[in-house]
Amino acid sequence: MRILDVREVTQPISSPIRNAYIDFTKMTTSLVAVVTDQMRDGRRVVGYGFNSNGRYGQGGLIRERFAPRLLGADPASLLDAEGVLDPHRAWACLMANEKPGGHGERSVAVGTLDMALWDAWAKLHGQPLFRLLAQHAGREADPRVFVYAAGGYYYPGKDLGALRAEMRGYLDRGYTVVKMKIGGAPLDEDRARIEAVLAEIGDAQLAVDANGRFDLETAIAYARMLRDYPLFWYEEAGDPLDYQLQATLAEFYPGPMATGENLFSHQDARNLLRHGGMRPDRDWLQFDCALSYGLCEYLRTLDVIHAAGWSPSRCIPHGGHQMSLNIAAGLGLGGNESYPDLFQPYGGFPDSVRVRDGHITMPELPGIGFEGKADLIRVMRNLAE
Ligand code: MG
Repeated sequence: MRILDVREVTQPISSPIRNAYIDFTKMTTSLVAVVTDQMRDGRRVVGYGFNSNGRYGQGGLIRERFAPRLLGADPASLLDAEGVLDPHRAWACLMANEKPGGHGERSVAVGTLDMALWDAWAKLHGQPLFRLLAQHAGREADPRVFVYAAGGYYYPGKDLGALRAEMRGYLDRGYTVVKMKIGGAPLDEDRARIEAVLAEIGDAQLAVDANGRFDLETAIAYARMLRDYPLFWYEEAGDPLDYQLQATLAEFYPGPMATGENLFSHQDARNLLRHGGMRPDRDWLQFDCALSYGLCEYLRTLDVIHAAGWSPSRCIPHGGHQMSLNIAAGLGLGGNESYPDLFQPYGGFPDSVRVRDGHITMPELPGIGFEGKADLIRVMRNLAE
């Protein structure tokens, strides 16, 4: 078998929202299709991928550098012993002639293609990706995955009533943990926003996310305020690469903290665990495979997590995409982010899936499951066909 074509289109996923660091009015994503020469059930096998959210589309890198490497490779060199497209071999081909370190947005381009390769691989095997991942890891899949609702952004004209109504809406849809942004307003204003949400959500839990906005002094000032409340976590207080800030903050914040969505390699993940003072008994790791060289690299990240004494159940990836849902169900992660009202049609679940008691159940769809989401598979097939 062989790859016939690799296609990419950069699409807008813009929205008027804002976090403490960026607004999303110009946000884009890369959608890719890896077209194979194989047929299953009367349809050509095509793997699809996209680059999560929060980083921009990677059309230049994908079209000029990475897709030509895949298409230029000896087709046999990309296959496993059974003659099936092998994501690990394809990944090695993508990363040929790339120096180590740096991990700028090349990791996003490769992560996007990696998603499509795994989707194709699972479709070639005719099984859901999460089932195959569990099988290869010698473990039992668990199709029931914890998800939380990420929202609570800043946007023009949004008052406390609108924020409470948004959070109430997530609870009405079955979520038990909600998340809101902080750090985009003065501390006292954020405190009022947090108190308003906690008053609204009752027994449900609240996480807060500063999106890397704070210097150490501000991060500590917020820690002193936040520790008065029973929060689910305090996320990305300072710059994602400032491990000393993260480690110092632990002295001021006994509750759970979370970070990692802007670390794009297993080496960066290892540095966080070595130097960031993260606590395996309570903290959370949010590495997003689609932004960080894909699942091939995420498997190495899980190895360094294990070596550092962490359980994969402490991982709840950023991004709200079905790729991470498959990894969670197949490899025992603690859950996945979800954005109930944002980043459509890319994020979210297959149409048949409902959130119940803070969990979803994975449908038995071959591949990653994009075919179960009508609005998403429509734009994907437009690219491939
Ligand atoms: Mg975040």
